[in-house]
Amino acid sequence: MKPAPFELERPTRLGDVLALLSKHGGDARLIAGGQSLVPLMNLRMATPALLIDLNRVEGMAGIRLDGAWLRVGAMTRQQQLMSDPLIAAHAPLIAKAMPHIGHVQTRSRGTLGGSLAHADPSAELPVAMVALGAVLTLRSAKADRTIAARDFFEDVLSTALQPTELLVEIAIPVAPPGTRATFVEFARRHGDFAITSCAMQYVPDAKAPRLGAALGGVGNVPHHCAGLVAAMSAARYARTAIERAVDDEVALLNPLQDLQADATLRRQLARVALTNCLNEVLP
Ligand code: FAD
Repeated sequence: MKPAPFELERPTRLGDVLALLSKHGGDARLIAGGQSLVPLMNLRMATPALLIDLNRVEGMAGIRLDGAWLRVGAMTRQQQLMSDPLIAAHAPLIAKAMPHIGHVQTRSRGTLGGSLAHADPSAELPVAMVALGAVLTLRSAKADRTIAARDFFEDVLSTALQPTELLVEIAIPVAPPGTRATFVEFARRHGDFAITSCAMQYVPDAKAPRLGAALGGVGNVPHHCAGLVAAMSAARYARTAIERAVDDEVALLNPLQDLQADATLRRQLARVALTNCLNEVLP
């Protein structure tokens, strides 16, 4: 199928994108890598009157270290996340998640911002951002605002973005040396969206060790494992506490049911993924 007719704007300055968004609002749609939006348009599940292409906009891509944060432009390609030395050194959880995402062709076009804004409940990058405690900067012609990744995802393919806003930057807390990260995924074939996934990292700080954990594919949005993190902290990360903490977290899940897996299977996959991740990252 072909998409419905649409107008196309290809601005080069962010200010022009913001002006177009404030003029056209809900009638316009941003296009980044096009890896999710183009299929939706071809199926006529998205019929924007105006497409605003972000690919020529200056200054929207790149990765830089800024004190305790790694700042990633929304238009940074997924393939760059996979090979960038700053990501490998300071955000090892992202490096672990990347090989699970699509294929070299989709990663070469697909962007970090596009994956987060698309908000597929089985996508890997949203789960990793929730586990990492990432903070997103959203911009409109009127103002910037920041929002925690765990508050950004509202429902299936639905986020806190307003029609006049775009995602410009993702800030990720720098992982100190010695951080142990892992990403476990169950999918039918390599490169498919996850049936269930788990992102986890443990920071072995002598004074304040920290755990971050999130599950994907078990609800409409990434599931932040706040209870498990609190329980493991209270138990001083003792492996004897794993089984109880995992059971309690899995009891909170209300997983999706689809042709790939029912709720019971997804709960069981979440149990295995959480247990394996904890066994891998804890000292
Ligand atoms: P686009 O498709 O251009 O846009 C997606 C949505 O985000 C649109 O609504 C758009 O308006 C909005 N948007 C884009 N950028 C911004 C911005 N800066 N601010 C606000 N809104 C914005 N993904 C996975 O996670 N895991 C997989 O295993 C996987 N496998 C795939 C396999 C295939 C064959 C294909 C075609 C895709 C696959 N994907 C997978 C999807 C891929 O990761 C996409 O790249 C991603 O979902 C969307 O990124 P994009 O840059 O292409 O965004």
